[in-house]
Amino acid sequence: MLKKLGNSIKTIIFLKSLRLRIFVIVLLAGIVPAVCLRYGIMENYEKQAVEQRIATVQNQLLVLANHLIGNNYLTNYYSEEQNFQTSKEVIDAELEMLSNLYEGRVMIINSNFKVIRDTYGISEGKTIISEEVLRCFLGQNSSHYDKEHGYIELTTPIVRAAIKEETGKAVSGEIVGVMLTSVSNENIVMTLHNLSRKAGVLELLLVLAMIALSIILSVALTRPFNKITSAINEVKEGYSNEEISVPDYVETVHIVDAFNQLQRRMKVLDDSRQEFVANVSHELKTPMTSMKVLADSLLSQEGVSAELYREFMEDMVSEIDRENQIITDLLALVKMDKKAQDLNITSVNMNNLAELILKRLRPLARKKDVEVVFESMRQVVAEVDEVKMSLIMTNLVENAIKYNKEHGWVKVRLDADHQYFSFYVSDSGMGIPEEELGHIYERFYRVDKSHSKEIGGTGLGLAITKSAVLAHKGSISVESTEGEGSGFTVKIPLTYIA
Ligand code: ADP
Repeated sequence: MLKKLGNSIKTIIFLKSLRLRIFVIVLLAGIVPAVCLRYGIMENYEKQAVEQRIATVQNQLLVLANHLIGNNYLTNYYSEEQNFQTSKEVIDAELEMLSNLYEGRVMIINSNFKVIRDTYGISEGKTIISEEVLRCFLGQNSSHYDKEHGYIELTTPIVRAAIKEETGKAVSGEIVGVMLTSVSNENIVMTLHNLSRKAGVLELLLVLAMIALSIILSVALTRPFNKITSAINEVKEGYSNEEISVPDYVETVHIVDAFNQLQRRMKVLDDSRQEFVANVSHELKTPMTSMKVLADSLLSQEGVSAELYREFMEDMVSEIDRENQIITDLLALVKMDKKAQDLNITSVNMNNLAELILKRLRPLARKKDVEVVFESMRQVVAEVDEVKMSLIMTNLVENAIKYNKEHGWVKVRLDADHQYFSFYVSDSGMGIPEEELGHIYERFYRVDKSHSKEIGGTGLGLAITKSAVLAHKGSISVESTEGEGSGFTVKIPLTYIA
């Protein structure tokens, strides 16, 4: 059963192959016109040969008809007169010769539809009233080609010329008899047969040549695609890291370009993953090193005072807090990187959420004597993930307080139009240098490392914020002047569309 299935899959794959299609197309393109041409030529030859034969026989019959009239063959047929007998013999001989020449039969029918002469001698005396004969008496010559039995049948009128009395010239004629002739077509059939045999041999040779050509072309034309596959396999198996190039066709160039771009992107991702791991290790190691230094210095000294112990222990606790903070932020970031369907979307009153967050952060602001103002332009209810939304707001307002000056201010504004709501946080803080603005969303990026350290940031806050904004299909932008302050704007759709 499985084997059968495997075989049918193989057949489908084979039928879908480009190579097979090229093979069939080239083969058909060669053979179909050749076969059509052959039939066209044969048909044409047959038609022309038959027409020519009819014309030749018809001519001879007309000459004979004139002889018949000239010798009164029809009117005197049964006369015993010596003169007529002689000319009758001559005409009979002519008739005989004609029928022998064309391997046929000539019947002479008089105006009573009676056969007075039959070169086969079997129908003499009989009456023939066939359609062709009647038509011929009415002046319509006819010829009929019986392809099946291989003969041509034709009727020829025997016309007696009427003489115009005044001029003495023949003007028109009276049909006094009909010659019903059938001639064999065997030589045409033979020629056709010979031609057909020769054409058949040629056709066979052509088919063989076309099969060979189709195989060569189908292999040659699909070779660049095989080249791409083996180049990609080399990259996949790690033998090569270089960009691949198959410039044979425009199409292969496009495929290879797309693959190279993908490879470049994967390399960037891989580099950034490595960089991230290095940064994480470094960030996690720093508090550890500090703690070890503190512990070592305590251990290496004899009789350390209780105060010094306490001081060192406090330092160690703050290092542990920092380590804890980094790990918490990292976990938040990892969660944020998961798929967007992990969002827990509910209808949230953004004004209430903003008030709650500001309430939580006010003690921090009070410590730095920073005034926090909330400006609500309208009531905003949006479909968002409440936890992630509060992370966004907390990070932005916390930064605005942290990186502020003494007695500074922070303004938070909430507004909405019919599609988006915006959350705007501005501060009177230290600002961000223009050249740093492009980097602040990077993981572990801090503008002023020493400054940030004393303020206590991990450099992950804005990375988390940006991820959360993007998960909501929103945007975040920043404007900042060094020494004067910064303003962050977050714009998020009111309704979430997955
Ligand atoms: P951190 O945890 O260090 O605050 P963030 O990712 O939140 O990390 O911020 C990255 C850096 O951007 C900060 O170290 C700080 O130098 C700068 N920054 C962020 N917000 C502000 C702001 N409101 N004013 C001035 N600098 C800011």
